[in-house]
Parts: sequence; structure tokens; C-alpha cells
Amino acid sequence: MERRPAPVTARLEVIVGSMFSGKSEELIRRVKRARIARLQVQVFKPSLDDRYGSTRVASHDGGAVEAEPVGTAAQLLARVAPGTQVVAIDEVQFFGFEVVPACEALVESGRRVVCAGLDMDFRGEPFGPVPELMARAEEVTKLAAICVRCGQPASRTQRLIGGRPAHYEDPVILVGAEEVYEARCRHCHQVPGRPARRLPVAFTSEAAAAAESPERGMGYA
Ligand SMILES: [Zn+2]
Repeated sequence: MERRPAPVTARLEVIVGSMFSGKSEELIRRVKRARIARLQVQVFKPSLDDRYGSTRVASHDGGAVEAEPVGTAAQLLARVAPGTQVVAIDEVQFFGFEVVPACEALVESGRRVVCAGLDMDFRGEPFGPVPELMARAEEVTKLAAICVRCGQPASRTQRLIGGRPAHYEDPVILVGAEEVYEARCRHCHQVPGRPARRLPVAFTSEAAAAAESPERGMGYA
């Protein structure tokens, strides 16, 4: 007896984390499950990312699915077939901000959209369109890698150029440069040249003590 394809729930899912946190693996898992459910799935990736050959999304653990490389979000939209029910996008951080309205349009057209990408760049700063995708998503999955220094869950991507931590001012994307990346936790993540944070109130141990004292109230008024 022929099985009917499952109905698709139009929504935006975002999978984020540092490098080596298993984002592509999770994207591949969802793609495979959608195909088991007989849904029509298309997988895209930026043509910039050619780590594992130009027509696949692969995870570091060896899993892979076929993917269509596209240069821009507009090209991605143009390639989505009328019958496609699920659109998966890997390395979504490389598409720039135009990927946000593109994803919204795909969901509004009744499709399920699953994006995976880095939520922070090597400096530990929010990465391009990903924070806005996270805000607009029905579901956000934030994965952690393991810090190579201390073994704690890692949220950051450490960039090393010639074995030394990359400087804050180094460009985010250096295609083909001699560099390596590793997963690190917040405390082991090193970014020489990172500007001091500007906080809206003084945030020292003395200021915190003053803020907690009853006569000073909470210190935020
Ligand atoms: Zn650590």
C-alpha cells in the first residue's frame, strides 16, 4: 500500500554552535529523517564553503548528504523547486543578511526551513545574520563542542594563525589561509586586541557591593 507523504509544519529551525559542535551532523540527521517521512527536501550550502567537495554537506564525523552550492540567498530562492517541502541550509552565516528575508519567505510559502551555522565568529562576536535567524526561529538548538584546553563544554571557535591566537582585527574570512580552528570554552578562548567592553554601569566588585547595599537600593535606578 502506498504511503502518503507526511504533512510538513511550516517553521524555521536554527542549529548553532562553535566549530566541531556537531551542527552539520544534526542538520544531516534532520534531512535524513525528513526523507524517511517521504518529504521533498533540498539542501543548500554557500559555494564559498568547499571543505568536503562542492556538492555535499558533510559532518566532521563522516556523515554526508548531497547539497546544492549557491552563491547568494537570491540564487538559493531561485533554485527551490515548487514541490520542495523542506529546505536545509548549512553554513548559513556565510550568506549575509539577505538570507533572513529569504528564510522568512520560504516559511511563509509553507515550507519547513532548517538552518545550521556558527552563532559567533572567531572573535566571539555574533556572526552576521545568525542572531536574527535565531530570534525569528520557532526552534533554536545550540550545540556545544568540547574545549580542547580544559574539557568543559565549548561555545567558542578559537582561530590560530601560525599556532598563535588570531588578532581581533584579522578578517573573519580568509579563504585558503594557513590557519587552524579549535573549540574552546569562554574562559580558554583567546582574542588578542579585543576591545574592552563598554558597560552601561560600573561593574567592579566595589560597584557590585555598593549596588547590593540597602541604602543604595539596587543601584540601577
Ligand atoms: Zn576551556
